[in-house]
Amino acid sequence: MAVESLFPRLEPLLPAVQKPIQYVGGELNSTVKEWDSTQVRWALMYPDAYEVGLPNQGVQILYEVLNERDWILAERTYSVWPDMEKVMRDNAIPQFTVDGHRPVGAFDLLGVSFATELGYTNLLTALDLAGIPLEACERTDEHPIVLAGGHSAFNPEPIADFLDAAVLGDGEEVVLAISEVVREWKAEGSPGGRDELLFRLAVSGGVYVPKFYDVDYLPDGRIKRVAPNRSGVPSHVVKHTLMDLDKWPYPKQPLVPLAETVHERFSVEIFRGCTRGCRFCQAGMITRPVRERNISTIGEMVQNGVEASGFEEVGLLSLSSADHSEIGEVAKGLADRYEGSNVSLSLPSTRVDAFNVTLANELSRNGRRSGLTFAPEGGSERLRKVINKMVSEDDLIRTVATAYANGWRQVKLYFMCGLPTETDEDVLAIADLAQRVIATGREVSGRNDIRCTVSIGGFVPKPHTPFQWAAQESWENVDSRLSKLRSAIRSDRKYGKAIGLRYHDGQPSVVEGLLSRGDRRVGRVIRSVWADGGRFDGWSEHFSYDRWVKACEEALAGEPVDLDWYTTRERGETEVLPWDHLDAGLDREWLWEDWQDSLDEVEVEDCRWTPCFDCGVCPQMGTEIQVGPTGQKMLPIVGVSQTRQAELVAPAGSRDSG
Ligand code: SF4
Repeated sequence: MAVESLFPRLEPLLPAVQKPIQYVGGELNSTVKEWDSTQVRWALMYPDAYEVGLPNQGVQILYEVLNERDWILAERTYSVWPDMEKVMRDNAIPQFTVDGHRPVGAFDLLGVSFATELGYTNLLTALDLAGIPLEACERTDEHPIVLAGGHSAFNPEPIADFLDAAVLGDGEEVVLAISEVVREWKAEGSPGGRDELLFRLAVSGGVYVPKFYDVDYLPDGRIKRVAPNRSGVPSHVVKHTLMDLDKWPYPKQPLVPLAETVHERFSVEIFRGCTRGCRFCQAGMITRPVRERNISTIGEMVQNGVEASGFEEVGLLSLSSADHSEIGEVAKGLADRYEGSNVSLSLPSTRVDAFNVTLANELSRNGRRSGLTFAPEGGSERLRKVINKMVSEDDLIRTVATAYANGWRQVKLYFMCGLPTETDEDVLAIADLAQRVIATGREVSGRNDIRCTVSIGGFVPKPHTPFQWAAQESWENVDSRLSKLRSAIRSDRKYGKAIGLRYHDGQPSVVEGLLSRGDRRVGRVIRSVWADGGRFDGWSEHFSYDRWVKACEEALAGEPVDLDWYTTRERGETEVLPWDHLDAGLDREWLWEDWQDSLDEVEVEDCRWTPCFDCGVCPQMGTEIQVGPTGQKMLPIVGVSQTRQAELVAPAGSRDSG
């Protein structure tokens, strides 16, 4: 039966809310299909506001991959602002998709992509507004299967009670496989109901269904074991890895936002994975190995995407874009192609040691020379060894000297505070480094108007990294170190004014730490925070640390665990971690050794350019590092006006077709 659009009921209410345009849909390249002509229907959610959610690549890719199949329908939904939530509750309007304005509760699947754990309370708001019971065990055959993906799905235990399933790793192939299972089950008349469908998904490989796993605890609160409670269900669920990125050149039809969003550009992922081995970086660890797109695919994706969207900025995306083995040719090829046009290029992240002036010049050929960003992450040489950042102070100074000497005036440096083994001195070293950067800049440029902005984030130990065993620093220590650093920079008469400092206080990191390394008992805390009004925890104006502290005290009362137990406690080698049954491919022993190496300040090279370090991923997942050179070229794709000109000059059929 067709599902009606809620828009006629929604539209008259929109003037009452902030930024109503975010709920309207109809973006260029969005899709609305006939409900009845499709067999499997997905609602895809990014659990944050439209302005953050719309540009998300993961959702855009899956939206397109699914909608390309004529038997699948996929629509998008985002978190609604608290003012809209109130309007919806007052008028009994359920959570809806922005494409067809259909109620989320009517879909077969609700797929939620979590880039950060701070979106968990927003999941509960959406479920509640959709009329879907918060706890998976209370859902019936009438409700969608609620499924999580994204980086946080590598430890979905804190939200296990609210999920029917989770998927680890690259989504392109697995969403189609899941759709097939659903299609088949529906075609058979939905035998065995919801339970049977979840069982089929769980045994299909690579879909984690928490209710088929029991968790037992030791008297001291640690986990004793996690084991399947249903025969046929795998003891470990493995991540998905897409090996041939060139076969999946998505997004082909990027969505163009109607309202203002955090990024207004067309992004092309030039490679996936990173093997630099930074020990704090969950993204690097869980997306191994490196898989590059070749230069001609990148060229075609950029051309198609720019044409399909009209975006004037192209971002070359990855965890460390300058590391692409053919980045020089990619940048030059694109800069040549778009010379004199409005299209500009950007690399969102540049490593200190991968920066070179030629590349930077290519990228800024069509645009302004905006600031350059580097991420040394740790202030002192010692700390950078602990985190395996492999960047020396001299490297950094050499790099910024080159940048300032070549006309850049502004450099931004990213650091973290609260890293394992960190002391006040390590953080104060950031001030010394920034001062040296300014001094060098003034010297090489002969000018006084150069600037350096220091941006500092709080470190959170993450699952599937060597720091998964580490104690998280208390927010009091983080805040105290940051305030010492601020005084050191402010009191410096010579350079202080040229150094900008940006940081957040340490409390949100503690909550992120709880949600990152938590187990199923943390679900009660999340529910209690949500019931107490917790929404948009990733937004400082909505975040309340006191609310989380209170919820932990209440929801964990009587348990041998509390907020500190989950965050500032160091774990032992043999402790069963809540995500040990979820397999990112990394050998647990390798991660432990790397943690020990970190404490010994021993660095490990990038396996892209050196022999394998046996992290376990490639043999276990049947994958391999894929880097160039590919021997491919970026073909100059001829624009329409140039084609016409060529036709005027040469008779048809006499031109080369390349
Ligand atoms: S298995 Fe070896 S080559 Fe593969 S990602 Fe790990 S260290 Fe690198």
